[in-house]
Amino acid sequence: MPSSSSSCSSSRCGSHLVVKHHVVRCSSASSSGHSSQGARLKPARRAARGVGKTLAGIRRHRHHPLLQQLNAEAVHFDDLFSERDACGVGFIASMKGERNHDVVDKAILGLGCMEHRGACSADNDSGDGAGVMTEIPWKLLASEMAGVEEGKCGVGMIFLPQDEGEAKTCRDFITRLAVERGFEVVGWRDVPVDSSVVGAMAKETEPVVAQIVVKQDLPTYEELDRELYILRKKIEQEVFEMYGPEDECYICSFSGKTVVYKGMLRSAVVQNYFLDLQNELFETAFCIYHRRFSTNTVPKWPLAQPMRFLGHNGEINTLQGNLNIMNSREKLLNHPLWEGHEEDLLPICKGKGASDSANLDRVAELLTKTEFDVEPTMMLLVPEAYENHPDLDTKYPEVKAFYKYFEGLQEGWDGPALLVFSDGDKVGARLDRNGLRPARFWQTEDDYIFVASEVGVLGDVFESAAKVVRKGRLGPGQMLSVDMRKGTFSTNIDIAKMAAAQKPYAEWAKNIKEIEGFAFKGECQLSAADALEMQIAFGYGIEDSQLIIEAMATDGNEATFCMGDTIALPVLSGRPHLLYDYFKQRFAQVTNPPIDPLREGIVMSLAVRLGKRGNLLKPEADSVVQANLSSPVLIEDELEEVMNTDFLQAKKFSTFFKAGSDMSKTIEKICKEAEEAVRAGCQCVVLSDKPEVGGFKDGKLSAEDPAIPILLIAGAVNHHLIDQGLRTEASIVCETAQAFSTHHFACLVGYGVSAVCPYLALETCRQWRMSPKTESLIKKGRVSNISIEDCQFNYRFAINKGLKKILSKMGFSLLSSYQGAQIFDIYGLAKDVVDTSFVGSVSRIGGMTMDDLARETMSFWNQAFPELPSKLPFFGFITSRPTGEYHAANPEMSKLLHKAVGLGGKNPAIENFRVYQEHMEKAPITTLRDMLEIKSDRDAIPIDEVEPASKIVERFCTGGMSLGAISRETHEVIAIAMNRIGGKSNSGEGGEDPIRWVPVDDVNEDGVSDSFDYLKGLQNGDIATSAVKQVASGRFGVTPHFLANANQLEIKIAQGAKPGEGGQLPGKKVSPYIASLRRSKPGVPLISPPPHHDIYSIEDLAQLIYDLHQVNENAKVSVKLVAQAGIGTIASGVAKANADVIQISGHDGGTGASPVSSIKHCGGPLELGLAETHISLTENQLRDRVILRADGGLRCGRDVMMSALLGADEYGFGTLAMIATGCIMARICHTNNCPVGVASQREDLRKKFPGTPSDLVNFFLFIAEEVREEMAAMGYRTMDELIGRGDLLKQRDVPLEKTQNFDASFLTQYAGSSSMVSSERISQATHSNGPQLEDTIIADKDFQNAVETEGTFDITTDIINVDRAFGGRIGGHVAYRYGDNGFAGSININLNGSAGQSFGCFLVGGINVKLVGEGNDYVCKGMAGGEVSIMPPADLQAEATSSVVIGNTALYGATGGRLFASGRAGERFSVRNSMADAVIEGVGDHCCEYMTGGCVVVLGPVGRNVGAGMTGGLGYFYDEDESFCSKLNTEIVIAQRVKSSAGEQQLKGLISDHFEKTKSKKAKMLLDNWSNELPKFWQIVPPSELGTPEAANEDIETEVMVEQNA
Ligand code: SF4
Repeated sequence: MPSSSSSCSSSRCGSHLVVKHHVVRCSSASSSGHSSQGARLKPARRAARGVGKTLAGIRRHRHHPLLQQLNAEAVHFDDLFSERDACGVGFIASMKGERNHDVVDKAILGLGCMEHRGACSADNDSGDGAGVMTEIPWKLLASEMAGVEEGKCGVGMIFLPQDEGEAKTCRDFITRLAVERGFEVVGWRDVPVDSSVVGAMAKETEPVVAQIVVKQDLPTYEELDRELYILRKKIEQEVFEMYGPEDECYICSFSGKTVVYKGMLRSAVVQNYFLDLQNELFETAFCIYHRRFSTNTVPKWPLAQPMRFLGHNGEINTLQGNLNIMNSREKLLNHPLWEGHEEDLLPICKGKGASDSANLDRVAELLTKTEFDVEPTMMLLVPEAYENHPDLDTKYPEVKAFYKYFEGLQEGWDGPALLVFSDGDKVGARLDRNGLRPARFWQTEDDYIFVASEVGVLGDVFESAAKVVRKGRLGPGQMLSVDMRKGTFSTNIDIAKMAAAQKPYAEWAKNIKEIEGFAFKGECQLSAADALEMQIAFGYGIEDSQLIIEAMATDGNEATFCMGDTIALPVLSGRPHLLYDYFKQRFAQVTNPPIDPLREGIVMSLAVRLGKRGNLLKPEADSVVQANLSSPVLIEDELEEVMNTDFLQAKKFSTFFKAGSDMSKTIEKICKEAEEAVRAGCQCVVLSDKPEVGGFKDGKLSAEDPAIPILLIAGAVNHHLIDQGLRTEASIVCETAQAFSTHHFACLVGYGVSAVCPYLALETCRQWRMSPKTESLIKKGRVSNISIEDCQFNYRFAINKGLKKILSKMGFSLLSSYQGAQIFDIYGLAKDVVDTSFVGSVSRIGGMTMDDLARETMSFWNQAFPELPSKLPFFGFITSRPTGEYHAANPEMSKLLHKAVGLGGKNPAIENFRVYQEHMEKAPITTLRDMLEIKSDRDAIPIDEVEPASKIVERFCTGGMSLGAISRETHEVIAIAMNRIGGKSNSGEGGEDPIRWVPVDDVNEDGVSDSFDYLKGLQNGDIATSAVKQVASGRFGVTPHFLANANQLEIKIAQGAKPGEGGQLPGKKVSPYIASLRRSKPGVPLISPPPHHDIYSIEDLAQLIYDLHQVNENAKVSVKLVAQAGIGTIASGVAKANADVIQISGHDGGTGASPVSSIKHCGGPLELGLAETHISLTENQLRDRVILRADGGLRCGRDVMMSALLGADEYGFGTLAMIATGCIMARICHTNNCPVGVASQREDLRKKFPGTPSDLVNFFLFIAEEVREEMAAMGYRTMDELIGRGDLLKQRDVPLEKTQNFDASFLTQYAGSSSMVSSERISQATHSNGPQLEDTIIADKDFQNAVETEGTFDITTDIINVDRAFGGRIGGHVAYRYGDNGFAGSININLNGSAGQSFGCFLVGGINVKLVGEGNDYVCKGMAGGEVSIMPPADLQAEATSSVVIGNTALYGATGGRLFASGRAGERFSVRNSMADAVIEGVGDHCCEYMTGGCVVVLGPVGRNVGAGMTGGLGYFYDEDESFCSKLNTEIVIAQRVKSSAGEQQLKGLISDHFEKTKSKKAKMLLDNWSNELPKFWQIVPPSELGTPEAANEDIETEVMVEQNA
């Protein structure tokens, strides 16, 4: 049975030397179950297709069964999504190539430092994976086996089946194949292991580990390795025939140089398990090590890392697209070296059963075994963000040419990635383009290079300091490499120059034709009537025209809306929808981060290529002859240019079909015609629904010839070309009327289209601009007077911006990687449709068939013929009106509810609630749960036998609505009401006023309190604290005091209204009160970034959970996710990361303002997310570890029952809580003009707020009573009995208007029981971090005395890297008692060593920490006061000023305090800092990003994008080499010299303090030469600081930087 609190994941070791021997247990949950998720969630294989068989006869022929089964189809989402991971990696290498056993021991020590970056299975003992890659231990092998000869032998490290007979069979066929390939088998060797150290779950699948040594006399190592590679591939093909894709017999490595020892192990037992690693004869010059954290609870031995070439920390977001393209280019891959073996090498990648790392490894391996050096291989696979790169632009254009050339051959494998790799001669490391994983390196005087995910790997920091001659880190897109044969160590630009010089890439890149510089049409191309006919026929509604297209044409922005998506899922609706509406965009959560397109757009590109991609294995001048587009949105003349570009041989295909005919036949015909054209040399297939292309009379549409939905035909052609192995031979372009919103373009590109010419959307812009109505509005000044060209420019600008946002939600930087990646979930399409056009995407609920879609297409088409209506139809998909689509939350239901609860403290009436209930029951089908009904297995019971409402309401919560988005009155009334009933309110983002944390005791008989005089209906004893306090990405108001006063802490990963996006509070809502809580300035807009800058992976989430448990060990930590396919795997990872609560939100909830496209097209239904999460957690035996909370669009007791049966323990209400307290669903929340003061900060409107706590109490009691009635009818007495009983649900027998193929079976499964009932889960103790270094300090009587008396306490002790989040517990302890800065005493802590992650987090005033050594990432996270100083040991040989002393993302969310660090920091220094001061001697990219206050002084080099989104505070940058200006983001801030005396004083004061605290040589130099050096400083000033004394100019002209980033 899982324990109620997890064991320690960072148990502290007494000394550094002990780390490797210390048994470090995992923090993950216990479970011994076997996941059957794959089977349960797996879509039927394509081979079993029924309706899709119309295209089946033209599938690509493959000879080998492996090829037939794996590669004749596109990659399936479910096959990939079950393996998500992140990890810790590193290596040690001797530059001189000296082999010794010490390298192994040192690597094992480093691996021990990574334990907390990995995870374990449910038994807390079976590691998700750990291992090492080394040189082959020739000495050891030769001591055991005669005939072993380095240079002639290769060694295969093999996992054999446990069954003796099967293992023998495998040995036999491997031997046979080796002999067939001309090898002599020198011998087999059982690798000695100690199985007693393997965890119980890992033991179940523990393979027999064996080595085979084979020999062949070949001229070079390279030839030997190629022969071994072919042999391994042939073995894999044979294994597949025997076992399928399950890797029953798996080759860890088969090489003449390297060997991999790995398994489902924890770091600490790798050396214990593999006895070879203890053998002194095991000598190597390098060792790569890796520790894995898998979201899957039943990880596999083969997926442990390192792989054969690389070890990976991070995740490849673009995997599905990468695999699809890789599979379809296989036919093109040839090289003289592989002549005759082309089929032997296939498949290159492996979809099912392989992780992203394993697949990338396979591609990298192929390239390096062909003719590529390791460094260029990694550069082209994981390219740097080479555009807008100041250094590359000016100094290294040849490097840009390299990237530009290869962009046309190989799409990037994009996502967070620290990759360490080796081919046996070189060892290196590469970081992703956005620098999302940490990578530190050290060079020692005896020529060893260490690289690791974090510090501490060298052991004792004082001992190693004297040996370290260089310390550094990898920045975004950077690389390092050790050539052990040549004895060299190279870093980024030297490597890039070497790679770029290998071939004349600059010359070759001239074959890329730019299509640009064409003008928009200057006049309408259609008559108004013809335009209207086309708009109606193609499905445009008045909302599409006005709220989508015209809104973008007006000012280049998407329209904003609020209160979620309240209409029916399209498949449930009776109204026709465009095909795009059945697709929901996927978004990144937890396992990978979204990108920030606003502030970090420098890493993004929408460029796309048209034309054939040449042979990747043999890049030559003619391999990349392509057209380049800067955006996939083509205007008419650009398309014309494409058609006229000779080498493309572009050809148009009409996409109309005959009304009444079989649409799928026409699709098949077009696919075949496109195939034939491509075979004949066409490199650009243009699918067109332009009437001219259809050949209709007068260029007008024909009533008899509707157009196939463009997404349907484009997807079909894409997959047909994939099937035919032709996909890389040609691009697909659409010329279509059926694309006008950002979502439409994203869908088309996502399913393989390179570019889209939206001719009717452009015409709609033109028609709008030239219409009399617009002319009149312009005259009245209500619309700005823009030209017809400008409105088209604005439209395209908005689409491009929206596309970047959609890409960024999933963490994509490059449109070229997004293309064909199919990053969508489908809700409401049947198998025949998916199998034809959207192969591999998830569609769980069935729905519209080809015939249904043809009918739906006709229903739009028929509206335009024969009579043309006078205007566009109103569908009501966005706004609610009686003639339009039904909206589930609407003014009528709000009126009924107000009456029922007695809004304003009046008497509630159950009979009025019945009216509300009846209204809900009669409402049209809107949600998936509306398609379900309860079928009980018991007889009804009297209602008094059912548990009381008071017990049920304790399970109710309210949504995370921020104070700022809603008014103070609403926020506090909701909190008070929830506290009255024992439920939980949620603070949302933005902090909370401490006066709310004490009960009210001054309420008079009128229900009014002096301290809360703006509220009505109070009672003495009421308390306005929010039980759940939220930690969102902006970290506004997240101080130690806030955290220490929480019952629960919620990490908001995503929100239902706009998953994958950040938040924004408009300046007009930032009142002085709101600004004070958020530590910002009134009137300044507050933006929360899309990612949490401390969560770029699952292991990062585990760290933040750890930090929060550290600062408040009593508060449960919940993680808020949004439903989408694969959420079960994510939730399992979150449970393993030690969360106490998981909240699943549906896409339709959300109360805040969001872009319309985000509200409508992202996130999945609550029901599916809930069911998948509950099933996955139960099957993985993690269910009892977490409380599962449902949230999103719940409106009545029946919704609660449904959520309970689907598995939820607790139930959240957002919109309904607002309605119950007064919201009338006017839906103008985003304007600050809410007429009832619910969602406004305006004083006048807030006075109109009608709600009282009793209104919400009454609502929840009514809901609870409704639940009780349902329970009584079912014969169930307690909620505990029915939670998770999906089998008590069945699909309702109600016909849907549009399809008969809806299938709710996914929702009606019984996942099985778990060992606890729901109420036991809820009452479990909070998960623990285990014993902590800080516990010993807090237990010290002198410390307690100092805290009690506000006295002084001093202590000196050691720290090692497993001591994580140091300072958080002491900070929380003091903050709970004294607040963030109320402690008048002094706690002084001196530490020596390498500090773990989040050092100095959540410190408060009065706590001073000094560290001699080095820090990791997240130093001073959330610091509110106190001081941290960090300096290297005095005898560090390397120059301190140029050495890295702390990692990434320091001071994230700091609200006070001071940091002095003598050395450099990584990326995002001081991100979202709002009040802290800091001095540092060099930083990476994105310094001061989103800063709203405080002061940062940087005394050394800086990376790019300084000051992005910085709205407050000041920065001072010492610009020695005059390069600073090119690094500044001038969107908001300006740079000026330090001219005011207050500014100089501030700067000099901080540098003086820096010197005093750290003895920095740099600081001393500056102070000694102050008058000479001061002019070299730039002061960075946002507008809000311009008037301050520090930034003001005293009689000297301001030197304002030229706008560079406009
Ligand atoms: S009444 Fe206020 S809170 Fe409710 S929808 Fe309207 S603006 Fe938003």
